Amino acid sequence: MTPPLRGGVKAVVIGGGITGLAVTDELTRRGVRVDLLERSAELGTEASSAAAGILAPQSEAEGPGPFLQLLLAAAQMIPEAVSRLEALTGISVGHRVSGLLALAFSDADRQALEKSLEWQTQAGLAPERMDPPAVRRIEPALDGPVRVAVYWPQTAVLDPRQFVRAYARAVEQQGASIHLNTAARKVAVRAGRAAGVETTGGLIEADWVIHCAGPWAGEEIGLPFGMPSIPARGQILQFSTPAPLFRRVVKSPRAYLVQRADGCLIAGTTLEYVGFDKRTTEEGIRKVHSGVKEISTKAGALPVESSWAGLRPDTPDHLPVLGPTPLEGFLAAFGHFRNGILLAPLTGRLIADWILGSRSSLDLAPFGISRFKQT
Ligand SMILES: Cc1cc2nc3c(=O)[nH]c(=O)nc-3n(C[C@H](O)[C@H](O)[C@H](O)COP(=O)(O)OP(=O)(O)OC[C@H]3O[C@@H](n4cnc5c(N)ncnc54)[C@H](O)[C@@H]3O)c2cc1C
Repeated sequence: MTPPLRGGVKAVVIGGGITGLAVTDELTRRGVRVDLLERSAELGTEASSAAAGILAPQSEAEGPGPFLQLLLAAAQMIPEAVSRLEALTGISVGHRVSGLLALAFSDADRQALEKSLEWQTQAGLAPERMDPPAVRRIEPALDGPVRVAVYWPQTAVLDPRQFVRAYARAVEQQGASIHLNTAARKVAVRAGRAAGVETTGGLIEADWVIHCAGPWAGEEIGLPFGMPSIPARGQILQFSTPAPLFRRVVKSPRAYLVQRADGCLIAGTTLEYVGFDKRTTEEGIRKVHSGVKEISTKAGALPVESSWAGLRPDTPDHLPVLGPTPLEGFLAAFGHFRNGILLAPLTGRLIADWILGSRSSLDLAPFGISRFKQT
């Protein structure tokens, strides 16, 4: 049940990707009136629909510290968020605990993997070392020249497009006002505080403005400070498999493969800094395809059914920007880079906790915008 609207607290959320949707979901559930702005004709069509949908806190962090804690806390929230959204909307998001196998094919791969095995074991994350015969036993389609592998049984996957659909329906049911084809032009400021947003459809007043514009967060919207946002292109290939080829996510430093419930096999990805260019390229597709062939000749022999590219919202240190900014009432929630699907429910909670003055168990300071030198 949606609680009654809270004492007239109003928020405007800029950007209807998975982050803006999750923030809107959490706020509306907790009684805040939300206007969600999305400049395109549909919600979640950018990175949030391009993603592979791997929820892998262990293999995404490069060492212990606040980012690992953030990813682990995010992963803990996923099952509950998925059950709630599925029950509320009737949309299945294809969530399953798949496990992830990270593979080393060369000496350099092996050294990097051994290093992560070491710090993760010390951090109590319980990665499992596997030798090549054990790898082949559990994933017979994996016939690349594996030297060693690390297995994380807790890794899960979901279908990001379905996650977007479920969030979109949930926020609608919870009473959010969704403004499609509506772009934020300028933050309205009154008495030194954000007071709403001037949009292409007119002024929307609010007590809080939350910036969830993904890689476009750095665009000019009249702020007296810069937003450190960088687009990072990733290209994806899709194959269709008559029967599932893999149970687990399999990954080398050059490619990964994710088997979806609908029979599609997804392969990723590139990391390219080419501005806001979302086109796939022959070179990018060739690169991902050759990574796939290295992992599995069977997968590599499948015809490519489709391909697409998306822009990850990156930042100079590859960490998200979350929480307060120098403008009171204006909160940041962007820069989720490779983990925006995983981080969505937690981002929603952290932002809502901040607005509603609830105590949060996570310290937002490491993700604050003040870590960047303002020009
Ligand atoms: C190839 C690829 C693979 C990925 N794989 C994974 C994965 O396996 N797991 C994972 O967790 N993450 C993954 N990611 C990352 C994840 O997709 C992103 O971190 C996440 O989708 C970011 O969501 P967002 O809502 O912040 O940004 P976006 O999805 O980019 O949404 C931002 C929205 O804001 C809107 N907008 C921008 N400016 C304005 C404005 N002025 N006014 C109104 N609206 C505006 C845009 O139109 C857009 O819809 C992947 C990304 C890519 C590209």
